[in-house]
Amino acid sequence: MNHLKTAQVIVYIGLGSNLATPVAQINSARAAIAAQAGVQERGFSSLYRSAPMGPQDQPDYINAVMALATDLPPMALLRCLQNIENNQGRVRTGEQWGARTLDLDILMYGDQKIDLPDLTVPHKGLAERAFVLYPLFEIAPQLVVPGKGPIAALVAACPLAGLKRLDC
Ligand code: ATP
Ligand code: MG
Ligand code: MG
Repeated sequence: MNHLKTAQVIVYIGLGSNLATPVAQINSARAAIAAQAGVQERGFSSLYRSAPMGPQDQPDYINAVMALATDLPPMALLRCLQNIENNQGRVRTGEQWGARTLDLDILMYGDQKIDLPDLTVPHKGLAERAFVLYPLFEIAPQLVVPGKGPIAALVAACPLAGLKRLDC
């Protein structure tokens, strides 16, 4: 038995894609995240379709939320997720919210508030984005978001904005 084992934390990841067969991108990312050392999958939402934020001349997005248990520290987890984005062809154009093969955002890291130059947790858009709140509520209806309150109240205050849950 390893008495030095770090405590595990429950983490929620937001996944999004609108290029190069988005459903396949989301499924590949799920497998890649679950295969990381120090990560175990604990839940995965339905897939959702959402209209783009920012530039409108781009395809709709496919979104989902994944729950993990991990002993990776927050920045190590972020670097893992960015490697997976890169491996799946993410091109950083500099355009905010432009089309991308894969976006992986850390929505929550346990009940921690993190304010580092490269990492803000809870994710800064969490409370306003239907494509984050609805799938998160689906897999964690009792969740309380640090500094924001119960997920049920956040969902109740957030219009669907055209968000659709996919059947398959
Ligand atoms: P948004 O963060 O508004 O959803 P985006 O996902 O398109 O926009 P990216 O281009 O993927 O933005 O990331 C820009 C930077 O955001 C990254 O370099 C990363 O360091 C930073 N960042 C800050 N907080 C987080 C977080 N919670 N999860 C992922 N990246 C984050
Ligand atoms: Mg994002
Ligand atoms: Mg991102």
